[in-house]
Amino acid sequence: MYISKSKYLTGLQCPKSLWINYNAKWEIPEVDDSLQAIFDQGHEVGEWAKKVFPHGMDINWDAGFDEVIKQSKEMLSKRIPLFEPGFVGDSTYSRIDILNPVGADEWDIIEVKSTTNPTKSDKIDEVYLHDISFQKYCCLRSGLKIRNTYLMYLNKEYVKQGDINPGKLFIIKDVTESVNNFLDDVGKNVEHMLNIIRGPRPEVDIGSHCKSPYDCALIPVCRSFLPENNVFNLTRIGKEAYNLLSQGVYKIEDIPHSFGLTSTQALQRETVLRNQIHVEPNRIREFLAQLEYPVHYFDIETSNPAVPLYDGMKPYQHYPFQYSLHIQDENNEVEHLEFLHTEPSDPRPAILESMRQSFKEKGSIVVYYESFERRNLQDLADAFPEYKKWVDDIINRFVDLHDLFKEFSYYDPAQKGSTSLKATLPSLTGMGYDDLEISDGSAAMREYRKIAFGPQIPEEEKEQKRKHLLKYCEMDTEGMIRMMEILREMV
Ligand code: SF4
Repeated sequence: MYISKSKYLTGLQCPKSLWINYNAKWEIPEVDDSLQAIFDQGHEVGEWAKKVFPHGMDINWDAGFDEVIKQSKEMLSKRIPLFEPGFVGDSTYSRIDILNPVGADEWDIIEVKSTTNPTKSDKIDEVYLHDISFQKYCCLRSGLKIRNTYLMYLNKEYVKQGDINPGKLFIIKDVTESVNNFLDDVGKNVEHMLNIIRGPRPEVDIGSHCKSPYDCALIPVCRSFLPENNVFNLTRIGKEAYNLLSQGVYKIEDIPHSFGLTSTQALQRETVLRNQIHVEPNRIREFLAQLEYPVHYFDIETSNPAVPLYDGMKPYQHYPFQYSLHIQDENNEVEHLEFLHTEPSDPRPAILESMRQSFKEKGSIVVYYESFERRNLQDLADAFPEYKKWVDDIINRFVDLHDLFKEFSYYDPAQKGSTSLKATLPSLTGMGYDDLEISDGSAAMREYRKIAFGPQIPEEEKEQKRKHLLKYCEMDTEGMIRMMEILREMV
């Protein structure tokens, strides 16, 4: 039995998770689409990293485990950079992102990460050091001579201009010394993990380790004993939820008064206890009074590729590919305008021009969580300064509907502590996303990427996906109109 790099990290996080990974794998929920998209993005970043080593060679992983190990050993004699070679040594098995030859017989290990910030509290995040120290241990035990170890990650200051320059897209940081500090522990950690795997199923309580350094895939399984309205549903509770659990408090309604809740948390507990919606009519009236007609309801969908696609953009910078806009006049007449770009070309000039033509010259613009729309419009104005004055005017007219929910001026226990539109829209209006093919922003982003950049799909299927995207974005702005109507009726 081998401990792989990913299982080593799992074992450091939680012995129960490690044991299940080897003995009861069927209990682990399947990887969902959003996690798969993160893996795919990591793979894409890995492909760009290889371009920094143009004379390197891939190891063919289709050949099967034993063949890969054999091939990797054989390829060492070529003394060229190797991409994803695999090695085994002393019950460990590891794939190396990039193994770079140095001098006559030494190698450098280069671990590629798709992050732009590998630090935590100003030091390299320990999870990366554990990761690389494991790889180094495995390589040493398989007989390789390792000189240095490096972390290669995306340069957050990189701005694309013309073709991507892989040499500037990445930062390569020497972490040899820090990694060596962790190296001595790898052997005994591996031994300990082997004993766990061979032993009885460990009992581990849920705790802050479940989300650190990574979200454990077993969270839904391990939390399944919790009742409705449990302490994790308390708004902004964070790690304090574990504190409550350790005191035997599982339900929001059982939280003692002596426990220091914030004002919104205390209010949430009251709504659960009374099973009642909380409304602050004065504040809602004040909010509604600021609206000027024609009232616009506006929402954008964005994509944020790890490797920038268009000039002037940085890694992970968002750019909008879609918007929905409802405009309501004093007589409640509503006009709907929308835009969706599904080609690989840069959507920014076209979406800006479309927005400029669609918005009226006056009237409030209702958005939900305005900082997102504001940041994206400001980025557009930075990239296309001829729109700056127009963008400034639009942003000045923003009214954030989220404010009312964020401050709990309206709160329904059905929101389960969340103030996102996905929670507030259904609870207030009964409208929901469940019947839509696309039901959240990250799914919209994935579909857009499939249509614009994925393998060719039949025109009919493409059209279907376009319709789903349009329907989803329209739901957000149409939903906001309905929310405003209900709030108006309420006060
Ligand atoms: S959810 Fe937490 S307790 Fe359960 S296996 Fe994962 S890390 Fe361990």
